Amino acid sequence: MREPEVRNHRGRVFAQADAAGKAFFLETFGCQMNDHDSEKVAGLLLSRGYRQVETPEAASLILYNTCSIREKAAQKVFSRLGEYRAKQSDGKVIGVLGCVAQQEGEEIFKRAPWVSLVCGSASYRKLPEMLTQLEAGNHRVTGLDTDTDETFETEVTRRDNPWRAYLTIIEGCDKACSYCVVPYTRGPERSRASDAILREVRQVAELGYSEVQLLGQTVNSYADPTPRRMRFSELLLAVAEVQGIRRVRFTTSHPSDFTPDIVDAIESEPKICDHVHLPVQSGSTKVLRAMQRTYSRDEYLEKIAMIRGANRPIAITTDIIVGFPGESESDFQETLSLLAEVRYDSLFSFKYSPRPNTPSRAMDDAISEEQKSRRLAVLQEKQREIQSARNAELIGQAFEVLVSGKSRRENQWSGYTTSHRMINFASQGKDLLGTYVQVRVTGAGPNNLVGTQEV
Ligand code: SAM
Ligand code: SF4
Repeated sequence: MREPEVRNHRGRVFAQADAAGKAFFLETFGCQMNDHDSEKVAGLLLSRGYRQVETPEAASLILYNTCSIREKAAQKVFSRLGEYRAKQSDGKVIGVLGCVAQQEGEEIFKRAPWVSLVCGSASYRKLPEMLTQLEAGNHRVTGLDTDTDETFETEVTRRDNPWRAYLTIIEGCDKACSYCVVPYTRGPERSRASDAILREVRQVAELGYSEVQLLGQTVNSYADPTPRRMRFSELLLAVAEVQGIRRVRFTTSHPSDFTPDIVDAIESEPKICDHVHLPVQSGSTKVLRAMQRTYSRDEYLEKIAMIRGANRPIAITTDIIVGFPGESESDFQETLSLLAEVRYDSLFSFKYSPRPNTPSRAMDDAISEEQKSRRLAVLQEKQREIQSARNAELIGQAFEVLVSGKSRRENQWSGYTTSHRMINFASQGKDLLGTYVQVRVTGAGPNNLVGTQEV
């Protein structure tokens, strides 16, 4: 049987749909949720007979899964599209997926007329139809609805990490942080059915994955749509019970929905990793109000006290934005004092970036780029000191490590502790990749630990 042709935006046939022609290249920008969406898109394409290739040159279909959380990330995509402008003459089909696709919509066709597919993440469930349209020769295909209560389910997911399986349990976001594009680009919050999640966990466990990471922009706002009405903490416990699963991670947690039963679950089940990523964004209640973060500094600190009160140490990491409109020097000092008080195990820090469609874009009192850069550098230096001191406290202790890397240097390996600390260690062992070993910490820097395998 003859397979359909694939055409680019000018209607030119670029490939017969044979094994050689149906090759895709997929590049991902942004967060773990984008990485995992790409794994699902790749699975979908593979199940339709496409091959994945390492370079755009070798592909007939080039896809960019994009991020628009900050302006720099969004710009990167347009410069990539510019680079591949020349490739249109090779008859390649180019598609833009993800947050920039959602945000810019059909404008992308105007800015980059050589693009044939524009699809936001809330429309991925329609990707099979869109591929059919492309294969049928349609050369302007869009998926831009955010008005959905469905999640993106695929039969096949092509996972990049051989040991850690990512699973999205909640898509979109119903919070309305005044600086954030996610509610616009990913649509409203939709939770996946708990039985579908547990089925997928059993599948990945059977495939040999021992660690799963549950994903969501506000993962702990999970609301099971099935009559079981499983709470997030119950879901964590149920995932940990699946045979073959040794580690359960989850990210990102929203402070307002971080309830004591989640801490109880971590305390009672060692397979649930001792790490909570709890973005604070600012240490100033005034700034938190302007950000519409739904908690004050004191309320956030109560959550930290609850986590620190567990009878098992739990690592805490966070995200911080500096230079939000109206952030005074004393507001910034409050963020620094919060860092000193919480002593985070690690953090991601960003200069505020005004984004389209967000309320904060119209706020007065913009902070200069120079001030933002200075504050970011001060904050990062302070955190470096905290991390150096915290990591030094771990010297002499032993931790379980999932080995995920092998150095070119003889007998040197690397991996992560359950608290998500990276550790480089020496071992005479062979074939350690993917195994769990005990490693004693012998040295520490701000960003990683050094150790030796226990025998
Ligand atoms: N949903 C998560 C949350 O609520 O924390 C993460 C959302 S976002 C993918 C990751 C981080 O990007 C946020 O926690 C925030 O620190 C940062 N971010 C989001 N919008 C930003 C903006 N307009 N400018 C700078 N940083 C931003
Ligand atoms: Fe964005 Fe706030 Fe939702 Fe996180 S909780 S995705 S920062 S709107």
